[in-house]
Parts: sequence; C-alpha cells; structure tokens
Amino acid sequence: MNANVKKGAAASGGPVDPALIDDLVAASRILAIQGVLDAYGHVSMRHPANPGRYLMSRSLAPELVTASDILEYDLDSNPVDPHAPLAFLERFIHGEIYKARPEVNAVVHSHSPSVVPFGVSSVPLRPIYHMSSFLHPGVPVFEIREAAGMTDLLVRNPELGAALARSLGERPVALMRGHGNVVVAKSVPLAVFRAIYTEVNARLQTQAIGLGGSVTYLAPEEGRKSEATNAGTIARPWELWKRRALGT
Ligand code: MN
Repeated sequence: MNANVKKGAAASGGPVDPALIDDLVAASRILAIQGVLDAYGHVSMRHPANPGRYLMSRSLAPELVTASDILEYDLDSNPVDPHAPLAFLERFIHGEIYKARPEVNAVVHSHSPSVVPFGVSSVPLRPIYHMSSFLHPGVPVFEIREAAGMTDLLVRNPELGAALARSLGERPVALMRGHGNVVVAKSVPLAVFRAIYTEVNARLQTQAIGLGGSVTYLAPEEGRKSEATNAGTIARPWELWKRRALGT
C-alpha cells in the first residue's frame, strides 16, 4: 500500500491548463536558481478550477521538477491519485494555509538561509527597502514548541499546519523558528517575487544592522504605497526569471 494513502482518495479538480503547470514548474526552478530553495522546500498552487485542491510536485529537489512530477492534493493533503509517488512530508503547510486563506493561490515553503537568523533572534524581520515593502504588516514567528512541545521541527501533520496558518494570520510571510519560512500570495509569480525578496531583505537588513548605526525601516504607509506600485511590475522580473529557469 502506498504510504501517502490514509483514507479514500478525493476526486480530481479536473484538468489544468498546461501553461499554469509550466508556471508552477518554473517557480520551483526559479526559487532553486535564486538560492531560496536548495534540495529542500517546495512551492504549490491552488487548483484553478477547484479551490478544494492544490498542485505540488512529488518529493523531489525543486530544480529537477518537470510537469510530469506535479501531483494534485485535497486540502487535507491527501494525494488525489491513490498510486501517487511519495509526497513531501511537510505538504500540510500548503493544505492548511489554503483552508485558512481563501484568497491565497500560491504557497512557498523554504529554508532560505538569510532569513533563518530572524526566526531565532529577538530582532524582527522588517522591510528595509521598496522591493520588500510587502513585509510592512509585520512578520510573525511560528514557535512550534507552543503547538507541540519538542519535535523534529517539521510540519508533518495537519494540526501543525493549522497552527502555522494561525501564526501567519492575514500576513504574507511567517518565519518558522529553527527551520525556515512560509510565503503566500494570490498568484504563483507574486509568491515567487515575495520569497526572493524576503531572502534579499534578510540579507540587507543583516548588513544594515552590521554597520552599527541606527536603521530606518520603511514606515507602514511607505510600505502600502510601494506595494501598490510593485504590483504593477511583477510581470517584468517574472518573464526574466522564467526564461532563465526554463531556457526558453
Ligand atoms: Mn521545511
């Protein structure tokens, strides 16, 4: 019996436009090329025709993902195909966030290295420049000990996924203490943009703090204004990143 199967398989949400699958494949490779994902971490998208399903690769290093590796899950993170290959252990991050956030259509979970210190330090991650202005609502830290005591740090069941989703609340990014982070957005390109600039912001913030003086962060109003401007420009980096990732 396949290890993924816990109960009767759910029905498929139906066929998906191959161009959208290509975007999900590109997202996985882009995030690997940009150093947000390494051999670990994953990106998913909600099924465009059925909000109760989502799409994500089988357990595989993100840079190696192709369209044939994309699997469909219900929001309890059971594969729709009972014979599906091995799924990611932490797929519950995705399913539970899609349950909690109906407007979210893409989720990235990474261990992007520059961000990790902000999950273990009392220094909060804050927006240091306009490219990361989406951080203006604040970045919560998910403390898995509060949810489940001593664990291996992995979000390996629906209860932990739901606890992470509660910590995220209505915000775009949550850090996971001693582990990594999760980034959400209404689209795959925007989730990729946010995951990349969360990593860059963490690196730049660390450098700014290292200079030793006081640091001026974006004010919330600057954050809101800048985020509105950036929303109109996402297609430009997305075209570049996708072309590099897919070699087209
Ligand atoms: Mn992880």
